[in-house]
Amino acid sequence: MHNNKESTAAEVPRAVRSLPWLIIVRLARSFRYDGLEIRVFEEADEAREVFLKASDALGLIADRDPADYRRIRRHVSRILFMSVSGGLYVPRLRTCVISIDYAKRSTALDVAMMIVHEATHARLWSLGCRYTRSAQDWEERTCVKAEIAFASKISDSAQSIARTQNLLSEPWWTDDAKYLRSADELGRLGCPPWLTRLLLGRRPTKGRPQVCDTSTSLAPRLLAACQR
Ligand SMILES: [Zn+2]
Repeated sequence: MHNNKESTAAEVPRAVRSLPWLIIVRLARSFRYDGLEIRVFEEADEAREVFLKASDALGLIADRDPADYRRIRRHVSRILFMSVSGGLYVPRLRTCVISIDYAKRSTALDVAMMIVHEATHARLWSLGCRYTRSAQDWEERTCVKAEIAFASKISDSAQSIARTQNLLSEPWWTDDAKYLRSADELGRLGCPPWLTRLLLGRRPTKGRPQVCDTSTSLAPRLLAACQR
């Protein structure tokens, strides 16, 4: 997945758009793996558990696909684990964001695949590819292919590969899919419907761009941060 920088979000100064993410990064617990910054937005014991899972995942990538590992080190400054659906890449902070719940319940291989996916977004960004509406279908499929190429080098990965391939049957990157995901997250955080409407605006309809993608992607994160 990826944060979309089209529509009116482009009218907001970059520093302002980065500020909420910077606050979340600074509030999260900090770890290091081979010099790479790992941040976990969670209480101490559980944060340690997630960090160990991330270490296993990165170790797996370094061991089975050194070229992929070098690309991650080159293009990614940090990996942040927090309450999100799936994952996304924040280019201005060179940060891969991964669902903390997913990391807890998944194997090191599945977490490694998600890191490879988000790091592929980072590499494409550094090559000049921009995540526009017209490019996002191609870019997401490219990132999924990178995940599968990595997993193919590991035995017993057939189930993870099949699950990843199945994801493409329901594109998660459309405006409507993103809106529904954020509304669901807000609902689970206890946000009343009126506040969800205020934070996210109206549900996107075909042909009408979403009002502000930044608010869609950040609203659940900010609410979760305020509840801590
Ligand atoms: Zn993606």
